[in-house]
Amino acid sequence: MQRLLHSLELTGGARHRAVAVAMKLVEGARARRDERPFLDAFLQEFGLSNQEGIALMCIAEALLRIPDDVTADRLIAEKLSTGDWSAHSGQSESLFVNASTWGLMLTGGILDLDPSIKTDASGWMRKLTRKAGEPLVRLAVRRAMKIIGGEFVVGRSIEEALARSAREPEVGLCSFDMLGEGARTLQDAARYLKSYQHAIDVIGSTAAGRAVQDVSSISIKLSALEPRYGLLQHERVMQRLVPQVQDLARQSARLGIQLTIDAEEADRLDLSLDIIEALAKDPTTKEWPGLGLAVQAYGTRALEVIDWTAAAARQYGRRMTVRLVKGAYWDSEIKRAQERGLDGYPVYTRKVTTDVSYLACVGRLFKHNDLIYSQFATHNAHSIAAVLELAPANANFEFQRLHGMGRLLYAEAARQVADFPRVRVYAPVGEHKDLLAYLVRRLLENGANTSFVNRFMDEQVPVAEIVRDPISELERLEFHAHPRLPIPAALYSDRRNSRGIDLGDPRELAALRAEISIPRSKKSGDSPSAGPIINGELLKGDAHPVTNPADRREQVGTTRDARPDEITMAFDAGAAAQPAWNSSGGDARAGCLEKAADMLESDRATFHELLVREAGKTVSDAIAEVREAVDFCRYYALRARKQFANPERLEGPTGELNELVLQGRGVFACISPWNFPLAIFAGQVTAALAAGNAVVAKPAEPTPLIAARFIRLLHAAGVPAQAVHLVPTPGRLFGEVALAHPALAGVAMTGSTATALTINRAMAARGGVIVPLIAETGGLNAMIVDSTALPEQVVDDVLSSAFMSAGQRCSALRLLFLQEEIADTVLEMIAGAMDELIIGDPSNLETDVGPVINATARDGLAQHVDRMRQEARVVKACALGESHAHGSFFAPHLIELDAASQLTREEFGPILHVVRYRSSEILQVLQAIRDSHYGLTLGVQTRLESFWRQVFADTSIGNTYVNRNMIGAVVGVQPFGGNGLSGTGPKAGGPHYLTRFANERTLTVNTTATGGNAALLNLGN
Ligand SMILES: Cc1cc2nc3c(=O)[nH]c(=O)nc-3n(C[C@H](O)[C@H](O)[C@H](O)COP(=O)(O)OP(=O)(O)OC[C@H]3O[C@@H](n4cnc5c(N)ncnc54)[C@H](O)[C@@H]3O)c2cc1C
Repeated sequence: MQRLLHSLELTGGARHRAVAVAMKLVEGARARRDERPFLDAFLQEFGLSNQEGIALMCIAEALLRIPDDVTADRLIAEKLSTGDWSAHSGQSESLFVNASTWGLMLTGGILDLDPSIKTDASGWMRKLTRKAGEPLVRLAVRRAMKIIGGEFVVGRSIEEALARSAREPEVGLCSFDMLGEGARTLQDAARYLKSYQHAIDVIGSTAAGRAVQDVSSISIKLSALEPRYGLLQHERVMQRLVPQVQDLARQSARLGIQLTIDAEEADRLDLSLDIIEALAKDPTTKEWPGLGLAVQAYGTRALEVIDWTAAAARQYGRRMTVRLVKGAYWDSEIKRAQERGLDGYPVYTRKVTTDVSYLACVGRLFKHNDLIYSQFATHNAHSIAAVLELAPANANFEFQRLHGMGRLLYAEAARQVADFPRVRVYAPVGEHKDLLAYLVRRLLENGANTSFVNRFMDEQVPVAEIVRDPISELERLEFHAHPRLPIPAALYSDRRNSRGIDLGDPRELAALRAEISIPRSKKSGDSPSAGPIINGELLKGDAHPVTNPADRREQVGTTRDARPDEITMAFDAGAAAQPAWNSSGGDARAGCLEKAADMLESDRATFHELLVREAGKTVSDAIAEVREAVDFCRYYALRARKQFANPERLEGPTGELNELVLQGRGVFACISPWNFPLAIFAGQVTAALAAGNAVVAKPAEPTPLIAARFIRLLHAAGVPAQAVHLVPTPGRLFGEVALAHPALAGVAMTGSTATALTINRAMAARGGVIVPLIAETGGLNAMIVDSTALPEQVVDDVLSSAFMSAGQRCSALRLLFLQEEIADTVLEMIAGAMDELIIGDPSNLETDVGPVINATARDGLAQHVDRMRQEARVVKACALGESHAHGSFFAPHLIELDAASQLTREEFGPILHVVRYRSSEILQVLQAIRDSHYGLTLGVQTRLESFWRQVFADTSIGNTYVNRNMIGAVVGVQPFGGNGLSGTGPKAGGPHYLTRFANERTLTVNTTATGGNAALLNLGN
């Protein structure tokens, strides 16, 4: 922050002048409020601070893409019936807003405007809602949304937009933006490329030899041209995208128009700078001063990006343009950083800091005046005034505004300020259905009460409050970070969040590459080894190699199986140690687990590498898995302190002490799977330990090395060597010995339903104490997608849910139900997006899909697909090649079924099944899900709250996810586990988990037995 404040060029009198000029601009604009577009008033009234505004935003976001009337009517009815429309009456402008605006938008010559709207807005709205379902209402609301949308678009095609630009001086100078979501497939990208090429030709034809700054220009989004636009895919993106963008740049240079690369999410910044550098290097466009980029002032790296641009311009001997914006993705940047457990946020967390950063960037841009032509994009009167103050004499620069916004303010500026610079309008072009993502950003911008445009015309707010010097405000702040936005590490109030790795940061990626690419055994000569670890000692014996599932020729380490007598020895030792471990208390045990979490974080590179090489996990899966294990340690430590440290006092009659105590049961057997060889293994073991049990842990056969490393780490963290033992061994042998051992006090297992049943039977056949089984088994997990869902989001979430971790997650999506009206479109997009998946060696950071665990798994999946070829339709099968020959790879498949009943069991791999459904058949869909008797995860994609609520109520699935992917449950946030055939509960990473590992005891002491009831007699008056 100090750095920011020190880089400010705006000082002393200039600061006062900027405020004064800005105040005059606002006052002037307010005086001409009659000239503002009706939509401004509408958006101000229905902002995001009220339910009605949010209802309108939901309709705007979804209505125009819904192909079927039934669902469209349901959306209208649901959204219009939420909200208190009458609350908007009584405002001075309410008549205008409620009556004229609604009237114009909703009727537009279609509906007769009921006069009751003027007197009883709420009753009118109710009537309208009741009528929803009538074609006229649907038509009217669609029309209203088109009018809202239309306000932000200059034309449906570039020709139409240019014709309007020629007609209307207000949009005479534009930077045209061809609307659309980011590409998900190469076909999408090719379509966007064509539309950019065409637009540049058409815009260029109007240039007619004028200076590049005086003609309309084009803005492009790199994510529209590349379906895998992310830093992890650096090489591929550079290879594919640079030639295409270079052609666009050359075309623009030839025709003499500017081309600006829009700024997108922060984790794409480095990648876009690489591309911009590649363009800047191009000698054929060196004389063209039109190559530009947008820089986001809310980004903490904004000043560096400006300096970088100036350095690139200098190095390659050219002039460049920079559009300075504040940034449009603030909310999603904050969420993403929290989810990823990053060290900090890539954006500022206070609005005022963004404003100050903007000023610092303005000053920096003017410093580079000789190399950069600056374009200041803002609708904030103070920012405009500050730019004017900071501008050197005779500087050549421009302002920019978004079409549909800031019109009144800039008109006022032109009136008040002599020689006000040129103003260019960012002008979206496209069909209504392509507008939605853009529209939502604009509604957010107009509706948020931190936003200048949202408040500056509101007479209730004094001008002096709207226009404040952000520098003084920032200087006055005691804490620069927003108090309600803790850093991601401090997300939880009662425990530290696990640390993630920023996959958008090239330095972190380089470090990861170095970590993963060379096996540890080669780097340090220390080859990982596993085997029985009993009383802290790795027992020697004949070891066998552990190999890499991506390439069986590579030996990752060695292990040896425990013999039956060693398993018995582990239980005996555990039984002897458990009482002391139990009586060490919840606090002491929590301390060990917290230490283990810290050690796991410091040693995460070792675990990443093992997860990749031993379990075939991709690097991003490995990062997520280590984080989950860390979270388990800290979460169960927290629960141990809460539930196991002190007895719970219970209420009762006076003269008696009543306490409830939780304590360990004895020795727990923990049986874990290979698909989460660290997270599930650590979760089971740390839970059992936290509750005061000793543990004998059996890792999955393919992944003993990770387990051994974790057990050693627990010992180093202070868990007594006698309290936790490792016995790698085949499941059947372990079952025979462990389940018969008299010290066995409980079993926690994750695996197949069949194995859980076998264990259950063996436990039932034991004599003596009945001990608990905590089983987490598989699922036939479904996702239901209705026609209100956004296809691009569906495709992203389906791909990650079905194919990440090669489909080898218990939570993975197996059965996708698509409403028939959108099924073809979505299937085509999924198939196109599958083409972009990289299947291969997971030690390459680019890889999306690694191997399945072994040849048996692969062959089972292949058999299933063979059967499906006869009984169903294989829509898409990805291809494998030579490079996959030495590992157990299985290519992702997409299979369309006639009916859900064709899928009868969980196929544990990257195979996604799809069923179409009619909206009238939703009850049958839910019945089919119930009939499977599984209940692990469920996804719903819809904009209808009533729909997801119905799905949730009519199913009984452990974890339901709405409008997101359905994998990656976070400890303590989405406690994980199913019911029915999917498991016994309680949920791992949830508040009830530890108690299942515990015995409950009560203690009652008659405190009056030794005399009278002293406490009662001392009660006083
Ligand atoms: C011509 C033009 C082109 C554009 N191109 C792009 C582009 O390529 N990429 C892009 O991302 N955006 C782009 N935008 C959108 C732009 O980012 C927003 O319009 C802009 O942020 C609004 O700023 P303002 O000065 O008008 O409004 P103000 O209301 O003064 O500022 C709003 C800004 O404050 C930020 N903010 C709100 N709360 C906080 C908080 N607590 N902490 C920190 N910051 C906060 C918001 O995220 C927003 O960036 C463009 C805008 C224009 C006008």
